[in-house]
Amino acid sequence: MFIKRLPKFEHHRPASIPEALDLLARYGERAEAYAGGTDLLVAMKRREKVPDHLIDLKRIVEMKGIQSDEKAGIRIGALTTLAELERSTPVKEGLSSLWDAVNVMGSPQIRTLATIGGNLCSAMPSADTAPPLIALGASVRIVGPRGERAVEVEDFFKGPGQSDLKPGEILFQIFIPRGFVNRGGAYLKLMRRSAKDLSQVGVAVCVSPDPAEKKICREATIALGAVARTPIRTPKAEKILVDKEITRAVAKEAGRMASQEARPRSSIRASKEYREAMIEVLTERAVMEAHRRMT
Ligand SMILES: Cc1cc2nc3c(=O)[nH]c(=O)nc-3n(C[C@H](O)[C@H](O)[C@H](O)COP(=O)(O)OP(=O)(O)OC[C@H]3O[C@@H](n4cnc5c(N)ncnc54)[C@H](O)[C@@H]3O)c2cc1C
Repeated sequence: MFIKRLPKFEHHRPASIPEALDLLARYGERAEAYAGGTDLLVAMKRREKVPDHLIDLKRIVEMKGIQSDEKAGIRIGALTTLAELERSTPVKEGLSSLWDAVNVMGSPQIRTLATIGGNLCSAMPSADTAPPLIALGASVRIVGPRGERAVEVEDFFKGPGQSDLKPGEILFQIFIPRGFVNRGGAYLKLMRRSAKDLSQVGVAVCVSPDPAEKKICREATIALGAVARTPIRTPKAEKILVDKEITRAVAKEAGRMASQEARPRSSIRASKEYREAMIEVLTERAVMEAHRRMT
């Protein structure tokens, strides 16, 4: 595809959330907020988006950083880059499925610029941070002209490229509740090339042991990316894991069920049949890896 130069725009650099909200309110549909720009600038070069005003969020300090609270959970500022997540000890040790995901996203150059908030706001079905965040019970905090609200990541995706964000709103934080931190987790991604490619299928699994009988899985969540119009959970497959010792046979059964629940379509990146087969295999493997990390 022929990539053109960027169209003309006016650039704004607010230093606070209220300042950014004022700019979004003032310029309305003619404005677009952005963070790393790795999705937006490509869309502008392709003329899929032609905003007159770009609101650069990167100076807003309160939207940056990772805070781990012993009681509440982990808060991740929307402007946190994928490279920062990759280097974070609380993420590596406590949110292993999310850590797996950022490690297989783009190239080191992209990961230095791209943010977790931008990945969610672009709302692509293949967004790699979405399945782990859904499996981790995460919610996003949004601020806008009518104040603040929280939405489960699972409900934030409305369709390809469509999120729950309303005009003039900004996603400022992602929250993972303490009960999901330090569970056994894993994310596996299938791509056409070994790196720098979007997902054909992404599977995140999160499991926790019974407090008394460590071998038994007490709670399980499974979320899939790139297999439907939005990232999805597979509740019937999750149920197969609960109150059981996770063996290869149990993981296989969960994989078969996840594939049935997903009902993927054929797309430019993979056929329906290939996706179904790969969901089965990847779910089985992700369950086994999450279980290994659980015990
Ligand atoms: C070469 C290449 C490889 C890539 N590989 C992958 C990959 O492997 N996996 C993957 O999932 N993605 C991949 N991407 C896509 C992209 O890098 C990610 O989606 C990235 O996380 C987007 O973040 P960003 O900060 O650059 O978003 P931006 O481009 O800044 O913004 C994206 C959209 O979100 C909105 N937005 C951003 N932040 C906010 C906010 N805080 N509040 C409200 N709206 C906001 C913007 O208005 C815009 O519409 C790749 C892109 C490229 C160019």
